[in-house]
Amino acid sequence: MALIVQKYGGTSVAGAERIKHVARRIAATEDKGNQVVVVVSAMGDSTDELIKLAYQVAGEPSERELDLLLSTGEIVASTLLAMALRDMGYEAISLSGAQAGIHTDSAHRRARILKVETRRVIKELEKGKIVIVAGFQGVTGEMDITTLGRGGSDTTAVALAASLGASLCQIYTDVDGVYTADPRLVPEAGPLAEIGYEEMLELATYGAKVVHPRAVELGELYHIPILVASSFSDKPGTLIHGGAPMEVRNKVTGIAHDLDVAKITVVGVPDRPGIAAAIFQPLAQAGVSIDTIVQNASIEHITDLTFTVAKGELKEAMRVVEPIARQIKARECLSDSRLGKVSIIGTGMQNTPGYAARMFAVLSERGINIQLITTSEIRITCIIDEAKVEEAVRTLHRAFELESGE
Ligand code: ADP
Ligand code: ASP
Ligand code: MG
Repeated sequence: MALIVQKYGGTSVAGAERIKHVARRIAATEDKGNQVVVVVSAMGDSTDELIKLAYQVAGEPSERELDLLLSTGEIVASTLLAMALRDMGYEAISLSGAQAGIHTDSAHRRARILKVETRRVIKELEKGKIVIVAGFQGVTGEMDITTLGRGGSDTTAVALAASLGASLCQIYTDVDGVYTADPRLVPEAGPLAEIGYEEMLELATYGAKVVHPRAVELGELYHIPILVASSFSDKPGTLIHGGAPMEVRNKVTGIAHDLDVAKITVVGVPDRPGIAAAIFQPLAQAGVSIDTIVQNASIEHITDLTFTVAKGELKEAMRVVEPIARQIKARECLSDSRLGKVSIIGTGMQNTPGYAARMFAVLSERGINIQLITTSEIRITCIIDEAKVEEAVRTLHRAFELESGE
């Protein structure tokens, strides 16, 4: 008897019929003699709707209240799924994240799982029940409810798989696996049969929201292979694991994009020790997470410092940085919130020259201006005008011959 952890995303449980369809898939897994733990997301766009409501009643809703509010989305889905299974004659029980023993730190809206206390889940499994856990949420030592960041149900699933000693975590979504690019943007993109943790982590971190980056991190840390597949088909999906081939024919594995990029440039910064700390320490204290940072070489001890943040954090970042810019006698502070990023990713690019040059040439042929560039060993990212992101992804997908999805 195997223990299987399955996760179903929001689209897969959007509406009564889809919940019943998912219940049938879970029942079929149990019928094969498996113990089943299911993690579920909120139905359809209900998390977005709850956030919208919160901002309709308050200009700056309290993060604690928001977390408690948002956690209800997953509770609705998990209770309905348990009811559907019971109606089909299966023993099932739903548990909130707290009841399932998901303990987190107290960083509301982006909490990290500290430990999973599996006693209750194991007790229910031993009673022969299918256990349905509300994803995306946990509880602090003070018994406050937290959420794990958008898309965080994937992380709940992998954390449970690791703590329960499952040999695989299955993530069921609305696409047939991890594609060479977002299939909503690139119709020719195809699913990959397999991908390594490292490449998947870069893809997810740089915008491929098909799997939450922290779920991939946990999978790698605890050696849990993750299968990403569709809840609407029986196609094989993509296996994310540690043994993916190192040398591949086409050395770019996939393309990620992200439309949530804003840029701040502090112009005319005196180039002396302590300036970067003076800018970034207060930003960190204000909880603003910084993505890319670029500092130009200085001319006559004056330089420009540019960094990017998520669009939703631009206002707060400017509020923090503008007075500092005045204090350090920088010339001015500029911002641009209409940016996006496009990344090419592949372990095969390591130590192989020419990929960056090819990427830049492809973008320039299309008249796409590159504003910032960042790289890792297996990734090259260009920050460009948000209106050009779609065209850039499609063009790069063709240029790096990814159409076959291999
Ligand atoms: P779920 O609700 O099941 O968690 P998400 O909406 O979070 O689903 O993620 C699935 C979506 O991710 C797909 O519908 C697809 O548009 C998007 N996506 C972005 N990049 C990729 C990619 N490389 N491969 C597959 N899907 C991707
Ligand atoms: N419902 C949450 C969200 O929309 C978590 C998830 O779907 O994984 O972000
Ligand atoms: Mg998701």
